[in-house]
Amino acid sequence: MTTTSNSSYIEPAPINKENPFESMMSRFHDAAQLLGLDEETYEVLKTPTKQVIVSLPVTMDNGKKKVFEGYRVIHSNILGPSKGGIRYDMGVTLDEVKALAAWMTWKCAVVDIPYGGGKGGIICNPRSMSVGELERLTRAYTSSLVDVFGPDQDIPAPDMGTGPREMAWLMDEYSRSQGRTVHAVVTGKPLVVGGSLGRTEATGRGVMVSTLASMAKLRLNPGRSTCAVQGFGNVGSISAQLIEERGIKICGISDHTGAYWNEKGIDINKAIGFRNGNGGILDGFKEAERITNEELLESKVDILIPAAKEDVITTANAHKIQAKLIVEGANGPTNAKADSIIYEKGISVVPDILANAGGVTVSYFEWVQNRLGYKWSEDRVNRRLDRIMQESYERVYKAAKDYNVSMRLAAYIVAIAKVSETLKYRGGY
Ligand code: GLU
Repeated sequence: MTTTSNSSYIEPAPINKENPFESMMSRFHDAAQLLGLDEETYEVLKTPTKQVIVSLPVTMDNGKKKVFEGYRVIHSNILGPSKGGIRYDMGVTLDEVKALAAWMTWKCAVVDIPYGGGKGGIICNPRSMSVGELERLTRAYTSSLVDVFGPDQDIPAPDMGTGPREMAWLMDEYSRSQGRTVHAVVTGKPLVVGGSLGRTEATGRGVMVSTLASMAKLRLNPGRSTCAVQGFGNVGSISAQLIEERGIKICGISDHTGAYWNEKGIDINKAIGFRNGNGGILDGFKEAERITNEELLESKVDILIPAAKEDVITTANAHKIQAKLIVEGANGPTNAKADSIIYEKGISVVPDILANAGGVTVSYFEWVQNRLGYKWSEDRVNRRLDRIMQESYERVYKAAKDYNVSMRLAAYIVAIAKVSETLKYRGGY
């Protein structure tokens, strides 16, 4: 994978990096073997249904045209229309988008919502672009994919580097192409554009619910437990905030500018306030001591929440991790080669396709509300989300016991079993 991000903290040394698609495939392979999946089904599920590469010429503020490369991969639409976010990052590659699209298939199946998996990405650095440039880029991307997107076809959402603002532009551009307002073509929209209450907090809330579910199994007492969170974007900061509200002490946080540590606990609302008033970064945060990202990952805490991006727990650092529980807020933060080290150390893991599924679950609620033309209360959204996360956790936990495997393999087993059974009923050519 090529990464050209300017961050020296989030990125581990490239030496132990793994291609994210291979990382995903290796778990898929192991789970398929355990399930005794037949060869034909295996072939269908391992191959993405559609991969689109688009070139997007965009007029920059200096009047010159710049061509961006964008992707949309539909891994599967067996369970329903494909669902998944759009990532804006310099490190985007087709292989990364393919892995992320497949993870969406497994994620939607784990939480039992009627979607297949897809993902999109554009190679760009959104932090260095003006609002106008980002709007033109988002509209160009949407317009070149109008035949792919659709409320019954493929439904995008935010991912790293995108948020409600981009989703509003996407909804508007798509709607113009159809000559009518189509709210349900995209989720994660601002409230006034058909967004759902609770969507912004949904991924963090799901991380919190699955952290507590796991702590209960491990008999970890929230009032006596500590936690470190890597990444302080939407997922990391809201997970930290909600987990702190449940009485767990957050000793370490980080973003691409560095990591911050306070043995006595960091006041997360203060950190969020500081970040919001400081151009969205933690650089200069004075309530904690400065440490490196590696030190944060290897710190002596009960719970570690990697909530930035893939491939941060590798064979280079897995054996140094001291946490008892890892809850994966990010997609693919642990690479496949590190899995066995973590498992042998006896560290419990709530895998990404379960832990961070709260986001897509409330995306589903948003889509349902758009189609009904009706708005749910925040309380209703949260109650339903909590129930789905709790039930999904128990389903995966049971599979882990039944098959005597890690929670990660168990999550893949649950997902692959559901998708392959659906495929059997639907049939094919
Ligand atoms: N990008 C988020 C994820 O990876 C949300 C996807 C969605 O809501 O469709 O789960």
